[in-house]
Amino acid sequence: MEFCNKCGSLKINGSCTNKKCDQHIKSMVELATAQQIEYIRELAEQLGEDISEVNFEAMSKSEAVDIIDEYLERLDDTEKKLTVQNDILDEEDELDTDDD
Ligand SMILES: [Zn+2]
Repeated sequence: MEFCNKCGSLKINGSCTNKKCDQHIKSMVELATAQQIEYIRELAEQLGEDISEVNFEAMSKSEAVDIIDEYLERLDDTEKKLTVQNDILDEEDELDTDDD
């Protein structure tokens, strides 16, 4: 066990676990939270994405954020496409009314 010589907190791989300490290395990989993983699973289900091969236990927080961003963007696109289709249908309805 290694302890920080500044604040006395536990050090892991040379990084102090006390986030307020200047010995804390911010770039140290933090694992994705249970909430992030849960959210990714929900989004993947909505997109019909296969995540059976994804190793969530080794996923970092920043990786999780990237995946969530990507999924949200894709969901957004899907919604936009549906809106466009609805607009086209509306126009066709108007044309029909004009013919009468
Ligand atoms: Zn420290």
